[in-house]
Amino acid sequence: MTGARKSPAVVHHAGYFADIGAHVFPMRKFVGIREEIVRRGLLRDEDIVAPQPATIEQVRRVHDAAYVDKLLHGRLSSLEEALLELPYSKELVEANLLCAGGSIAAARLALERGIAINLGGGFHHAFPDHGEGFCVLHDAAIAIRDLQATKEIRRAAVVDVDVHQGNGTAAIFKDDPTVYTFSIHEEDNYPAIKPPSDVDIGLESGAGGERYLAALAHNVPRILDRVEPHLVAYVAGADPFVEDQLGRLRLTREDLRARDRLVFDACVVRDIPVFATLAGGYAQNLDDTVGIHADMVEEAFRIGG
Ligand SMILES: [Zn+2]
Repeated sequence: MTGARKSPAVVHHAGYFADIGAHVFPMRKFVGIREEIVRRGLLRDEDIVAPQPATIEQVRRVHDAAYVDKLLHGRLSSLEEALLELPYSKELVEANLLCAGGSIAAARLALERGIAINLGGGFHHAFPDHGEGFCVLHDAAIAIRDLQATKEIRRAAVVDVDVHQGNGTAAIFKDDPTVYTFSIHEEDNYPAIKPPSDVDIGLESGAGGERYLAALAHNVPRILDRVEPHLVAYVAGADPFVEDQLGRLRLTREDLRARDRLVFDACVVRDIPVFATLAGGYAQNLDDTVGIHADMVEEAFRIGG
């Protein structure tokens, strides 16, 4: 245990929003969460850190040059755009560069403050050579690679609790012994093909909070003890929620809070810096998605503050 703790850092930029028209992905959640955590009194709006966009050099530590060129010059094929499941625009690419910059900033702030949260990102379905499932750039991987490149860290672990398996994360780090990947998700859900993480827990549809939390409590502490990462990337999807439109794990708001508490606590008691990203969240009611992500920030402030 450390002595005096510093309160978590929060990173956000208005430019995380990109106009994608009527879509199941709620772009409005980004600013909504910012407003909600300020409304709850967790921190002042002026204390929220505005990131710089990730540079092309930083992005290319994860993504292939050909894919980055296609994004920058609007040359995705119609098949690639269909796989992405988002309408391509320059604004969308700019938003993803900012989100990646936000995760880089959060990762670096986590080293200083113990916990940091990017109110965006968690785009764990992005692969080195293509984007899919609403994910253009893999922000958390870009952040990990950046801190490795500067030698601020050597080993990292990704703890992915989104309802969908972290296929992009698994693919990016598959031959990399310095980054350990863990995903707990609904087995019978997107992505159809799940490249193996170091540990995958694929739960049955309808599993519920008790099963989910037991599996998480069984795995996360022992992974951290075994791997001793210098940094944890927490991909804190809101979509295991019982009223989510794209997930059927059926966790309550309280289960999700317990989940976030478990992960933050496991990191903090071991003095392992952790940065969180939002990932998915498609509740029927946008207020639930915003509230679940805000609850995650609140748990971070309770444990880290
Ligand atoms: Zn998801």
